[in-house]
Amino acid sequence: MELSIKVKLSTKSKEYNIPEYSLTGDLLSFLTCNLQYRYQNKGFLPPSRPLQLWFGEFVHGVMEEAYTVWTLKKTQFPWDWLKDIRPIEEKIDQRMQARGLYPPNPKYFTPYNCVGESDEDPSKRIISTRIENSINLWGKHLFPLMDSAEVLIKGLRKMPLKDVINRRSDFYCVNGVIDVISSLKINSSISKDNLIVDYLKEENFYKKNHINSEKEYEIIIDYKGMKRPQYDSNHLEHRSTWNYHQWQILTYSWLRCRQANSRPIISGIIFYLNELLPSNEDLLVIKRDVESNKTDVEISKEDRELIEDWDGTEKNFPELSDSFKLDRSIRIIEINDEKVKKALREFDNVVNDIEKSTLNEGIGTSIKNSWKADGDNRTCDACDFKNFCNKYRNEHSQFFTVP
Ligand code: SF4
Repeated sequence: MELSIKVKLSTKSKEYNIPEYSLTGDLLSFLTCNLQYRYQNKGFLPPSRPLQLWFGEFVHGVMEEAYTVWTLKKTQFPWDWLKDIRPIEEKIDQRMQARGLYPPNPKYFTPYNCVGESDEDPSKRIISTRIENSINLWGKHLFPLMDSAEVLIKGLRKMPLKDVINRRSDFYCVNGVIDVISSLKINSSISKDNLIVDYLKEENFYKKNHINSEKEYEIIIDYKGMKRPQYDSNHLEHRSTWNYHQWQILTYSWLRCRQANSRPIISGIIFYLNELLPSNEDLLVIKRDVESNKTDVEISKEDRELIEDWDGTEKNFPELSDSFKLDRSIRIIEINDEKVKKALREFDNVVNDIEKSTLNEGIGTSIKNSWKADGDNRTCDACDFKNFCNKYRNEHSQFFTVP
């Protein structure tokens, strides 16, 4: 007699991946231009001239290293570029080169000498002057307040695609790296004569946030290697770089307050480091913002005249005041529950748009029809994909038509 035994073998469950989105690398990048994001991030095509990428990494690396040096040696400010700052620049550049990240234009950006320059008298590039200003103007106020640098934050959110049946996952993960977390006790001695604390006071900040002067609070700080974005008081609800940066800080605060060692977060600060030494191109855009009143920063009569009278040439580049540069380079971002909720909703919508485009492409829609080409003029001019982008080709048809 045969005995048959039925054994049910369990099958391996389907792999379950939760899509992970970086706040800057994915969400802000998608908002800059959907199609460029698709080619660069999902197509794994690195930009050929990654100036922003290189500058951003370099600035973050130098500022972090400068903070470490300051905590060890307590070197008095101002730091001397050749003696104190250049060795840090070289160290970071070498570290980046070991990872294959080379300065995009050595003539202007490498902290090393060009051929023919002596080691004793290296010439200083624009990037080095910006770094020097960042350390000597802001570092001296920021370092004493700093608690930690490069803090990784992560969190899960519900996938917003409610109406789509074949969504990839029920959740998505959002991550980011906070450049600096500062701790602040209003009455402590380090808060006295501190320019950053003075800027917070100017905003009437403590009153608005009902701050207890004995408690310790946190401030989230982010450096950006760019000019201050345009501020348009008539279109504050619109999608704009101004708002994107605010949403980024507010989302950081949501993620940070979920970490066990966090304290109440009262503010975010962004430092726009190009404002400390704008390039000619930066200043042309600043001039446009000032003349069309698309700026939130009050400007002195003298600085306004200098900007309005400037003919736009490098030769006549105006000597603007330090207060103009400082006021424009610091942006204080108020953090409260309502604003945080709004920022999270906005980023949920961005994830929704990315997921929809990804799913569209997955069912056979062409890349160009799945991802919107919507970069602004400055982004398009620097874009590696403009030669085969329909939007760019249509707007610059004179360059693409064969006579
Ligand atoms: S050229 Fe402009 S619109 Fe086209 S992909 Fe590049 S950034 Fe986007």
